Amino acid sequence: MRVDSQSEPISTRLLRWYDASARTLPWRIAPGSGETPDPYRVWLAEVMLQQTGVLAAGRYWRRFLELWPTVQALAAADDADVMREWAGLGYYARARNLLAAARVVAGMGGFPETEVELRALPGIGPYTAAAVAAIAFGRRATAIDANVERVACRLFALDTPLPAGRKAIEQALGPLVPADRPGDFTQAMMDLGATICTPRGPRCLLCPLQACCAAAALGTPEAFPVKAPKAVRPQRQGHAWWIEHDGNVALVRRPPKGLLGGMLALPGTGWSVGEAERFPFDADWQPMGAVRHVFTHFELSLRLFRTQLRTRPPLHSGLLSGEQLIWTPRESLAGAGLPTLYARALALIDQLEAEPA
Ligand code: SF4
Repeated sequence: MRVDSQSEPISTRLLRWYDASARTLPWRIAPGSGETPDPYRVWLAEVMLQQTGVLAAGRYWRRFLELWPTVQALAAADDADVMREWAGLGYYARARNLLAAARVVAGMGGFPETEVELRALPGIGPYTAAAVAAIAFGRRATAIDANVERVACRLFALDTPLPAGRKAIEQALGPLVPADRPGDFTQAMMDLGATICTPRGPRCLLCPLQACCAAAALGTPEAFPVKAPKAVRPQRQGHAWWIEHDGNVALVRRPPKGLLGGMLALPGTGWSVGEAERFPFDADWQPMGAVRHVFTHFELSLRLFRTQLRTRPPLHSGLLSGEQLIWTPRESLAGAGLPTLYARALALIDQLEAEPA
């Protein structure tokens, strides 16, 4: 499909729209303000935005800056504190990488400026590297997130299903990035995708690119991007033990590597297909229902069992051996930084306790 360039370059149309309509975001330098972006702030926002929407990311971003205003401060932070503040954003490997990258950057005396060097930092993938290079350092780089992906597929009617179609998106967008305002171009594409070229019901009549948009010309913008059929997520099961003693609940810290690595958790079994019901010691175990959680590669159903003890359980007993129990006051659990899976378990117990017997 040939795109009608309508003589005015796409970047000019887009930037004119951006200058008038840019979203106000906590981490954003408004177009034309003349301020220099702080790469730490840009990077932190981009990492968080990969986990959550703009509103929640804003809350986490402000909190992180309050606690750790510079990359050096974050580099010096305690791992457990960062994990606690990250809790709720999910995908904790990102938080561990955030910390690892901060330490490398602090050791280097500051952020590197090119896409290639940024990519060498822990946990920085092609999108984040390009976004930071363009927004913080004014480098010509093509940052492709889901919003940009959608706009580009529609603009050029690219119909190769994602993720295979990403190469074509890069090739189509790369030449459009203007040398003088690559950061604003990147943010303008993100804004257009978030506010006008939305997944459903794109508002083509308000779009600054309508005159040169192939999908709009075809009359089928929502047919793009073409998605490959979804793979079915495997199901796994596990059991978590809610052990109460003297107003405290037993938590454990998960091993540093792997899923929810380094996070606080309820003790329990492993997670596998058909995980058998097991308990760490003999007690009156009450079934409390189950919580579900979707991880990237599988869906987990975690069954919750509760027991209240008069004395602390023997540490050498059964499945708890080798794990150090962290006895946490019941009323402090909500603020302990439990990851979403276990925060759901806590919510389930709270709900059951609130129900009349
Ligand atoms: S014209 Fe419509 S489909 Fe094309 S980029 Fe604009 S909003 Fe998206």
